[in-house]
Amino acid sequence: MSKAQSQQNTKNKNEENSSQETEEDWELDYSKTGMIIGLEIHCQLNTLKTKLFCGCDAAYRNDKPNTHTCEICMGLPGTLPVTNKSAVESATKLALSIHSDIHDNQFFFRKNYYYPDMSRNYQITQYNRGGGVPFASGGHIKIKLKDGKEKKIPIDRMHLEDDPGKLSHEGSLAQSPYTLVDYNRCGTTLIELVTKPQMYNPKEAREFCKKYKTILSYIGISDTAKDGAFRVDANVSLEGYNRVEIKNIGSVKEVEKALKAEIFRQKQLIKNGKKIYRETRAWDGERTILLRTKEQEDDYRYFPEPDLVPFTVTESTIQRIEKELPELPDEKLKRYQEEFEMGEYDAEVLVNNKESADFFEKCVSMSDHHGDIINWLINDVQGYLNEHNQTLKEVKLTPETFVELIELLNDQTISTKIAKKILPEVIQGKKPKKYVKEQNLTKISDVDTLESTCEEILEENKGLVKAIEKNPNAFNALIGKLMKKTRGKADVNLAKKIFAEKIAFDLSQL
Ligand code: ZN
Ligand code: MN
Repeated sequence: MSKAQSQQNTKNKNEENSSQETEEDWELDYSKTGMIIGLEIHCQLNTLKTKLFCGCDAAYRNDKPNTHTCEICMGLPGTLPVTNKSAVESATKLALSIHSDIHDNQFFFRKNYYYPDMSRNYQITQYNRGGGVPFASGGHIKIKLKDGKEKKIPIDRMHLEDDPGKLSHEGSLAQSPYTLVDYNRCGTTLIELVTKPQMYNPKEAREFCKKYKTILSYIGISDTAKDGAFRVDANVSLEGYNRVEIKNIGSVKEVEKALKAEIFRQKQLIKNGKKIYRETRAWDGERTILLRTKEQEDDYRYFPEPDLVPFTVTESTIQRIEKELPELPDEKLKRYQEEFEMGEYDAEVLVNNKESADFFEKCVSMSDHHGDIINWLINDVQGYLNEHNQTLKEVKLTPETFVELIELLNDQTISTKIAKKILPEVIQGKKPKKYVKEQNLTKISDVDTLESTCEEILEENKGLVKAIEKNPNAFNALIGKLMKKTRGKADVNLAKKIFAEKIAFDLSQL
């Protein structure tokens, strides 16, 4: 560590006295880009049936306000919370998936603060200080950098905690005559994941979030597509300056945007000789806005939650969960490249999206035309989805109908051209075999039929035949005319041979 950096650390420490992050233990390496970024991500374990400490139904979305509540999640006197075993198992799954070490003798803390969306006036959380341990610490998530290189982003720790409720206002916050509170979300389970500040630009932070979401979807502990299920706090500091936190960024794309905007703001301040304060900011989609100067850790008066017993995830539970873990993205990527001889890019397209990977695996279990399945899925199907801004889940294509199309192509029932033409229909739910029959789209590979059509074309395009003598490439125009005439149904290879024979053309010139 350079002298300037260690001075900066000392300065930070003096200013804050007790910061939650044990920054002194972190290697603050500004050498790459002059900035470091760290992330704290709250993710809802919204595949759990009940809340973290009570039996209330955790699937609260779209239900009437305050219908998923009980004495426990409301924190009424005399009630006792009980830790949700499935939540602990979900956290175990995640810890094992990111190579984190799970701690023994865990217990919860009360993090005290008054805010109307948390009626007990404290959040039940885990704490890595004051004698407490996080659920797990260490480990990493691998991301891909722009230059194609891999980078392991180290994880500092992860812990379980409960989510507060939600406040809502009529119209805007500033104009609403009242505040309404809905406690349905209150007490549902969150995992907070904290990285070490070792991302060196906003793009890396975005890639990290993307990869983390992929892992979450593989292990099935969170549906991060749900509104508010994945919330990112991004910390950024420029070398020699204070750290600023941007709170509650709702999407992966916005993480990169918010960081870029914040870095720009800080650089402008520096340029103008102004100070960068240690503060918490919000992101409004365009710029970051001051929320507050950072609370001191002492403000929360953390102390061990006396109503919950300490727990240890037993070795046998860890072993069982490890055995049950699905194939994870990194493993799958490697296997696809080996087993299907896929290029890295193709493999990534499939693996990065669990739906696509699942879809692909069903297809290859039904058909041996792996090459076509890969090509058509990655180029044509994915192209269609991108263009229409849809996902596989949102369209009616199934592995069965997709494989049916690939089979029709491979057994020469339809031409490539027809296959491409009808793919959108198949994606929207048409059954390929039936559709081809109904629309009379079967490939014309009958020699007599093709021969007479080719003759017609030669007759109608004498000029073109002359041109081919001078320029062999003009031969392809004949195929174009044929395809037009047959509405894409002609067997191209056969037609080429017929044309070549009729005008004495050497196909090797093409
Ligand atoms: Zn409850
Ligand atoms: Mn938290």
